[in-house]
Parts: sequence; structure tokens; C-alpha cells
Amino acid sequence: MNTGAELLFLKPVLKERIWGGSRLRTEWGYESARESGLGECWAVSCNEQADSVVAEGRYQGMTLSQLWAEAPELFGAHAGERFPLLVKIIDAKEDLSIQVHPDDAYAKAHGLGMGKRECWYILDCPQDAELIVGSRAESREEFERLVRAQKWDALLNRVPVRKGDFIQIEPGTLHAITAGVELLEVQQNSDITYRMYDYVRPRQLHLTEGLEVARAPYRIKAEDVVHTDGRVNTPQLLVTTADYQVWTVCVSGALAPDMACESFLIGSVIEGSGRIDGRPVEKGMHFIVPNRYAVRRLEGEMRINLAAPMPRRKVAGGMRPAPIIYYFQDKVRVSFEIPQSSAG
Ligand code: ZN
Repeated sequence: MNTGAELLFLKPVLKERIWGGSRLRTEWGYESARESGLGECWAVSCNEQADSVVAEGRYQGMTLSQLWAEAPELFGAHAGERFPLLVKIIDAKEDLSIQVHPDDAYAKAHGLGMGKRECWYILDCPQDAELIVGSRAESREEFERLVRAQKWDALLNRVPVRKGDFIQIEPGTLHAITAGVELLEVQQNSDITYRMYDYVRPRQLHLTEGLEVARAPYRIKAEDVVHTDGRVNTPQLLVTTADYQVWTVCVSGALAPDMACESFLIGSVIEGSGRIDGRPVEKGMHFIVPNRYAVRRLEGEMRINLAAPMPRRKVAGGMRPAPIIYYFQDKVRVSFEIPQSSAG
């Protein structure tokens, strides 16, 4: 195992945003000529707007889209389709717009590629921070009425969060990141956003499309927020959907996770520093664990988040997500199946 295979470290791409801050530079060490207005780090990206470049090793200088096309063996069961995921760090100095994303079916029907399912791991936030997730409308009619009347305070559902929390945002969920929050986002590789409200900013809105794709009534409750539980040296599964699984692992000392999956993994060091299979790493580094590479040893004092795209297998009627991500705990293989509810 791991013969010839190596971790693929990628160079981040910074994106200016009018609501962005300066923490991507000052706290994450990413280089930018700009002082502020740095909203997003596209850490692992393979699309028209940013193509990650391999920073070192055998594939140094190649883009992710080149690797995707020319070295499909690195990606296992996903080869041939569009690169499935996009991983970002978002620094919201100000409130982001209230928005909603379509699902795969809507995107496909409108010639827009794939929909956008996303999730958030809270890296930092003010005390008493709240995120906007879903609406308080009791019915579809009430939802539309409140949107058209711009009654945002009555409509928006707010969920309290603190550092280390995790929230899954299904397509069609009205949502917004609020001022001061910094988070790691794992999402489908899509950028379709329908903006419903943008405070005093003059950017374009997309109310018609937004109303078409919005789920209502739909809200997330405080108990739907996943809290990281402080366990050390044992990966914690945060979510399983039809598109991805996301894990977090707090490393203290050393562990031998033997972690691999049938497609590939995207890793992000979000706190501290240490070594992965002997290679020094620190906060702000992002890498791909290619197919058939098992992470053998993690050492140091750090937290790493891992995202695994769901492998797709051909079945009668088309492609279906066919997950398996696993790790070995006390020499027992622990694997996770996709829940039926999100298998569609
Ligand atoms: Zn979003």
C-alpha cells in the first residue's frame, strides 16, 4: 500500500468579497496584496473560477483539472465525472446575503450542472453568534408572503453556534453566514446562488429562482447542530449525505488511523501543527489523500477535517451513491453506510 502514492498538497486561491475581512491573511498566513476584503480561500477547487495547483512532489505545478483528466487512478470510483467537491474557508467580516441553492434535479433541468449541497464547520465566531438556517414560516404560502413583503425578521430562522459546531445545509435551505463567523465549507462543486436579500448592498437579487428552489416550511433547530465532542485521536463523523461524508479528528500525540476510502479524501489542517506520515503540516494546509493511499500516522497537536466525496456506482436506472469510508480502530474496520433518507 502507498507504493508510489503521495499526498497532494494544493495552493490556496484567495477571493475578494465585499463582506470579507483580513483573517485569511493575518490568521491563516495566506499571501495577498490586499489588506482586507478577503472573503474566501478556495482551498481545493477544480472549476472555471479556480483551479488548484499542486504545490510539491511528483505532480508539482499541475492543476487539479489536469490531474482529474490525466490521472484518474488518483480519484478511484469518481473518475470521469466532474470533480465532485469544493472546499473553502470563509471569513465573514460582514453579513453575507440571504440565499438559497438549487438541488441536482433543478440544476440539471436548467442546464446548470450540479446543485449545491453544503456544510459548515465553525472555525471561529463571536460570542452569542447565530447563523441563519431555514425559515420560521409554517407553510409554503406564509413563506412566499413574507419573502415578497421583505419581512426578513419574521421569516429568518436563527440558530446559535459556537466554535467547533457543524451544520449541514441541504439544497433549498434559506441560509446566511453572519458577521464575524469564520468557517470551513465543504460543498458540491457548484456556484449557483440565488440571492434573496442583500441588506443595503446593491447586488442583484434572484427572487424568482430562489422561490422556485426554496424548501418551505423548513427550519433547522438548535439540536440539529452537531457539536464536536472533544474526543482525541478518534475521528468523529459529522455528516453523511449523498454527496459527501465529513469528519473531524483532533490529534494529540500520535495515532495510526489507517484511514482511506473508495474514492479519495480532502484534508484541511484547521488548528495547530504536526506531521502526516512524517511530512510536516500546519494550520492552513489543504491536501488530497489519493485513492489507495491510507493515512498511516498522524502526530502533533492539531485538528484536521476530512471530506470524502461519495463514490458513485452504476446501478439499474443510473448512478447511485455507493459510499464506504472506513478507518481501523483497535484493528477493527469501522465503515459507514449512507442513510437511505439522503440516497436519492
Ligand atoms: Zn450557501
